[in-house]
Amino acid sequence: MLIACCLAFWFYLKINNRQPTANLYMRRSKQSYRCSFCGKDKSEALILIAGIDGHICEVCVEQAVDIIEEELYDNKKTEPAPQQKPTEFNLPENVTPKDIKDYIDDYVIGQEVAKKTISVAVYNHYKRLRQSGKDLNDDVEIEKSNVLFVGETGTGKTLLAKTIAKYLNVPFAIVDATVFTEAGYVGEDVESILARLLQVCDYNVAAAERGIVYIDEIDKIARKSDNPSITRDVSGEGVQQGMLKMLEGTDVNVPPQGGRKHPEQKLVKVNTQNILFICGGAFDGIDRHIARRMNTHVIGFKADEKQALDKENLIKYVNHQDLKRFGLIPELVGRLPVATFLEPLDHPTLRRILTEPKNALLKQYTKLFSLEGILISFTDGAIDYIAEKAIDYKLGARGLRSICEAVMNDAMFDLPSDKSIKEFTITADYACEKLEHSRMSFLKAA
Ligand code: ADP
Repeated sequence: MLIACCLAFWFYLKINNRQPTANLYMRRSKQSYRCSFCGKDKSEALILIAGIDGHICEVCVEQAVDIIEEELYDNKKTEPAPQQKPTEFNLPENVTPKDIKDYIDDYVIGQEVAKKTISVAVYNHYKRLRQSGKDLNDDVEIEKSNVLFVGETGTGKTLLAKTIAKYLNVPFAIVDATVFTEAGYVGEDVESILARLLQVCDYNVAAAERGIVYIDEIDKIARKSDNPSITRDVSGEGVQQGMLKMLEGTDVNVPPQGGRKHPEQKLVKVNTQNILFICGGAFDGIDRHIARRMNTHVIGFKADEKQALDKENLIKYVNHQDLKRFGLIPELVGRLPVATFLEPLDHPTLRRILTEPKNALLKQYTKLFSLEGILISFTDGAIDYIAEKAIDYKLGARGLRSICEAVMNDAMFDLPSDKSIKEFTITADYACEKLEHSRMSFLKAA
């Protein structure tokens, strides 16, 4: 037994390359030893491991482990990984910005300016990707053009970004800027933006590196005030600062499971050079900055030269200066060179949203009932009524869904059990009666 223990100890020392005599001597001796790597004295180190000609402290051991992991990780990256085949983005050779817009038109109603702007931005972005690496002698480098959408909630910002990603067949992730804090504070680090992107493409780094990220509620990380305060603005300016490098294009080490909760996990290196970032926000109150810049007031324009201004809809004049005044730091604004706006949805547009898009809400209800063998139809009056109510509730197009659910719920409950009914028409009166008796009616007061 004793012999076995001695053998095991000797074997352990051999594996760990430790020198028993030196080690024991070091522990007994009062003589001063130093770490041969950092020079730290034995009295300052927790552990000093002795080798043949030198010593190493615990901090240097940890650093050495990091270096080894990094090296191994880098080696792994250069190895061909069969499952990491880059997903081809789906932009056909002869596609034009107009083709992209035509595709978006099938899903997004109105918002002509935003649709044109994003079509051009995406077209240029992917043209730039195709070009990169081809003209090595060419000094002209096309810069990345991340996009910023300014528009009220429910006007189609996310839908636009989603539709573009669908068209290009690239990984697409939606993240909410409000959950982020500056690194080191409670909340998520900005790197977790890329962790989401990795998740949606099953950790295929090559695919993620050509993806699109939509960062919602970017306005909520606006600088709290112009004056530097004693308390740090860790969820505002701090986050904006943290985003800069990522938006511009750099290697980011991403904790795949998200954040500091799993410090032991290996980091995945993602290059953001070719990731298109689309940011969106409602920027409530930005119209005041626009009005001030245009030397006018939200109420009461100077009658003469300002008459051409659409005072109800100042958002269409938004520019980078207004965004800075609102609280985005200039560096961030500079990294979102394409800024565009989405108009508030008026009654005719809401009406069209109900019926026209490929997966329009009313088309969805028609399909649901047709599966039961029931032909359902909506009168013009009913469609008008639903669109009017969406405006009343100030929920943009997002409200249409809740209103329709409230109107349709009884029909969806009753009709499947009454086999005699083969046709059903939703009129304005029917819609009004159902909505008045639903939970939605409580929203009216808001
Ligand atoms: P936002 O991101 O601006 O808050 P969303 O894009 O999430 O708004 O819109 C919410 C829903 O409203 C979408 O899923 C879509 O069904 C509908 N919607 C909004 N705007 C439009 C639009 N312009 N055309 C078609 N549908 C729209």
